[in-house]
Amino acid sequence: GYNRVLEIHKEHLSPVVTAYFQKPLLLHQGHMEWLFDAEGSRYLDFFSGIVTVSVGHCHPKVNAVAQKQLGRLWHTSTVFFHPPMHEYAEKLAALLPEPLKVIFLVNSGSEANELAMLMARAHSNNIDIISFRGAYHGCSPYTLGLTNVGTYKMELPGGTGCQPGVNGVVQYPKGFLKEAFELVRARGGVCIADEVQTGFGRLGSHFWGFQTHDVLPDIVTMAKGIGNGFPMAAVITTPEIAKSLAKCLQHFNTFGGNPMACAIGSAVLEVIKEENLQENSQEVGTYMLLKFAKLRDEFEIVGDVRGKGLMIGIEMVQDKISCRPLPREEVNQIHEDCKHMGLLVGRGSIFSQTFRIAPSMCITKPEVDFAVEVFRSALTQHME
Ligand code: PMP
Repeated sequence: GYNRVLEIHKEHLSPVVTAYFQKPLLLHQGHMEWLFDAEGSRYLDFFSGIVTVSVGHCHPKVNAVAQKQLGRLWHTSTVFFHPPMHEYAEKLAALLPEPLKVIFLVNSGSEANELAMLMARAHSNNIDIISFRGAYHGCSPYTLGLTNVGTYKMELPGGTGCQPGVNGVVQYPKGFLKEAFELVRARGGVCIADEVQTGFGRLGSHFWGFQTHDVLPDIVTMAKGIGNGFPMAAVITTPEIAKSLAKCLQHFNTFGGNPMACAIGSAVLEVIKEENLQENSQEVGTYMLLKFAKLRDEFEIVGDVRGKGLMIGIEMVQDKISCRPLPREEVNQIHEDCKHMGLLVGRGSIFSQTFRIAPSMCITKPEVDFAVEVFRSALTQHME
């Protein structure tokens, strides 16, 4: 039962792993944009497992492909080849502009960024890496040095990042990234775009976040949405940078590019294309931004509504003049009330004052209407 789960959690799972809600949700099942708890209550999942379930929970096509591969071959390691890896590499490379054509397959966003840092250093002969204030690039020893948001903050030297996510979906001003890339390159540096959250069509207008800023990175890292929840990640770079790394070390990764991950990755790409999910992100995302933005006019505590495609941040403030963050307990209560009404959203920003909205890309307009109504009710309840 539920209480036993809590006991086991307390006894055997690390206290650094925190859960949302005073009474954490115990989820049993998922179907597309919906999640179901032990009692069978359903929740509209507007955070998709932290921006990861890109095409929907247990998507039938992805499941069918995974099941087929499960019965055929799970693992070979990178020293033996298998067809799903080569089929996947070809499909993924076709989605990136020239000269980004060389792929390294790994297992998580942190690993992808670690590898990107190695490549950048090997190629440029520079040690220093710059990331943005408020960035999140992982929790491994080196990526922690780039991560600089809320409780993840660590004072360590830190890569040029490219992510509006954990810090509450903060967007770069127009032209900013272009200029930043020029400054880095003028000093012999290379530019890394972390597309862990922004990639795979989520932003709607473009497949990759960097394209929305009209820049061309030297290295691109990706994870989360790439496998719809299956652990996989990738780094893509130019042949030149890949050669520089090969001169320094032989890169080895036991699970990277395993047959399950590659088969699933291919299925995800096919579903995004067949079901026009990037176009859906654009259309439903634009609709959603407008609907949530109305709440800013209706409630003093909604300080900002921002974002692009299916990646939206709603920043809660004490009032629109001071823009001080709404106290955490109050944001927690609104979060909890949304859950009670069947809506799951994420959290972000230094004081956890921003709600993060990033549903699976199969989301529909009526579901957005439901989510906005739930959110409006939670805010109204709060003001009473
Ligand atoms: N980069 C970004 C932009 C992320 O949001 C995250 C995870 N939140 C990571 C990297 C690290 O990915 P992982 O948790 O798979 O290591």
